[in-house]
Parts: sequence; structure tokens; C-alpha cells
Amino acid sequence: MRTVSILGSTGSVGRSTLAVVDAFPDDLRVVGLAAGANIELLAAQVKKYRPELVSVRTDSDVPKLRAVIGDAVAIVSGSKGASDVASMPSANAVIAAIVGAAGIPPVYAALRAGKRVGIANKEVLVAAGDVMTSTAREHGGEILPVDSEHNAVHQAIRCGTHQEIQRIILTASGGPFLRRELDTFDEISIEAALAHPTWKMGSKISIDSATMMNKGLEVIEAHHLFSLPADRIDILIHPQSIVHSMVEYIDGSIIAQLSTTDMKFPIQYALLYPERVQAPFARLDLAKIRTLDFLPVDPRRFPAVELAYEACRTGGSMPAVLNAANEIAVERFLAGELSFPAIVEIVSRVLERHAGKVAPIASVEDALEWDRWARNEARGTDVAVSR
Ligand code: MG
Repeated sequence: MRTVSILGSTGSVGRSTLAVVDAFPDDLRVVGLAAGANIELLAAQVKKYRPELVSVRTDSDVPKLRAVIGDAVAIVSGSKGASDVASMPSANAVIAAIVGAAGIPPVYAALRAGKRVGIANKEVLVAAGDVMTSTAREHGGEILPVDSEHNAVHQAIRCGTHQEIQRIILTASGGPFLRRELDTFDEISIEAALAHPTWKMGSKISIDSATMMNKGLEVIEAHHLFSLPADRIDILIHPQSIVHSMVEYIDGSIIAQLSTTDMKFPIQYALLYPERVQAPFARLDLAKIRTLDFLPVDPRRFPAVELAYEACRTGGSMPAVLNAANEIAVERFLAGELSFPAIVEIVSRVLERHAGKVAPIASVEDALEWDRWARNEARGTDVAVSR
């Protein structure tokens, strides 16, 4: 029996994680939940799964949850509360599915406590990847990717040694604007940007998929997870999202992982690894799909990708700044303050301003400090393409 804490239990990956727990009642049990503003759903989850500890976003949410669930379960709050859930002694594994850099302190706490962490929260690795991987090494923690591409790579690298890897090929759906006329990007609505063609996801990652910043962040994530330089991590557009990623070996063989577009696959792998168990989820029917397409990334359509490669090559604080500036730009787009092309334009300007200031990230505090700096810069930046 593995015991699991879920950070971000009411979000898309959190709910998929609970569906995996439902599918394997003899193998998995929930002991901790942390969530944000959706108190109603969190209360329903607490009643169903009976965890030992629950964390809510703010102090003022504690009595709201208490009123619904009674006194049976301990309730904590804030970043400290999420870290308590992440490091609770009775949990073997943690699924980290908080959105954005807010996941940094709890993931760090989990790794320091020697947990297995299934990371869906890629921003943590982008902003503080070296800190997280070295903390895992020192404290016996373990990082398993839940991000579908990295999970695919994790499966494919079991076919060879690190020295035998030529390159990683991350697949990308290309998002909703793969074929949209470039001169209409100024008119892209929030609804259109949120409508991902193959995956149902939260709003932040859906916008990141539309700009393809998501794939850029995934290049940095892969760099940390698999200890490879940016120039050995390639991106290939694959609109069907069936091949989740591939590893090319030095002999020219490519190993790919395929499944339906369902996050329950990478989540079950991360929780149950190295075992494979009989799963009840819908299987892939390739005879029905028939065709798998692949095409290169057009850098004019998706300028975010090159920004992320640059940040990965520069290293230090640059990826943390990229991530934070992007979070704010996406937030401002979703608030109706910015046009779609302005998201990446703002990130680009903040990176330019950071170029002379790049510093090493030796601790969580360093990552959070540059995160704050970049957020302020991105909030204060206006570009000509603003509405
Ligand atoms: Mg992904």
C-alpha cells in the first residue's frame, strides 16, 4: 500500500490523481490534501477519502472548511500548510499539482523529507531545478515526472544508458493556433486561447500551450530531469498527442511511449513505478486513429520556444525569471488586459532587462527572490500590442 498526499487536489491533475486512487483501492490511499479556493469540492474530497491532514489557501478558509467537514480532520493553511501536507510522515508519495511557482516551497519540503514526488508542477523545476534535484539526492527523495512528455521519456530511457542517449524529442500538439493566420493573432480571444484541441487542462497551462511557452518550459524541465543540455532536447509538433515523447539513442533507434490523452496514465506510472499494474483505463486503438502526423516548430508562430531555449542555455536565475514573467503575463491576458501576442512580448522584455543581472540559484530563497523581481517587472511592463 502506498500512501499519497496531493497538492492541488481540486485541479485537473489532482482530480485525475483521485481517479487513479479509486482505480487501485488495494494499492493507494490518500493521507493528505492541499487545495486552493474550491472549498466545496475539497470538502467533498475530505468526506470521501478521510485524509489525516488538509491544507487550504488562507487562514480565512479554515472555518469555511471546518463548517462543512466537522472536527475529524486537522486543517492547516497557506504555503506552510501545503508544505506540512507535502512532508507529513505518513505519506510515501506526493503528487505536486499546484499551478506555478507557488509549488516551490511544498515540493522542496517533500524532497527534504525523502518523499517520492510526482511532479506535474513543471514551474518548480524550471525555477529551481538544480536545488530540487540536489535536495532529492541528499535526502533520499525521488522525482518522477507526471508531465506526460517527461513521463514518456522516463519510460523510454529505461531502454538504454545515459551515455547511449543521443537526444530527447518532446512532442507538442501545437495548441489551438497551429494553423491560424499569423496576422490575426492580435484578435485572439481568451476563449479561443483556452480551447485546447487534445487535452482538457487548467487555464494557465492551456494558455501556455497556445503560446507554446508550455513546451519551452518543458525543455527546461527535461534538462533538469534527464541531465541533458538544451541542444540535445528537441521539439516536434504532433497534433494528435498520441506519441507523448521519444528518446533517440546513439545507434539511431527511437523509443516512443504512446497512450490515450489521459493524465491517469502518467499519474499511475509515477505512483506505482517501478511496478506496472493492470489498469482499467481506456486503451489506445491505433487502427482507429490510423494516422500520426509530425511537423517542425515554426519559430515565427511560436517565439516563446526560442526564449525558453535561450533561458535554458543561460541558466542561473534566467529560467526562474522566464517562468515568473510568463505567469504574470498569462494572468494579465486572462484578466483581459493584454492581447495574445503581448504575453510573449512581455516575457521577452523582462528577460532582456534581466540579462545583465543573471545570478546563481543556490536555494529556494534565491529562486523566490528572482521570481518576485520578475513578477514586479512583468506587472509594470506595457507593450504597444496591449488592448
Ligand atoms: Mg506536458
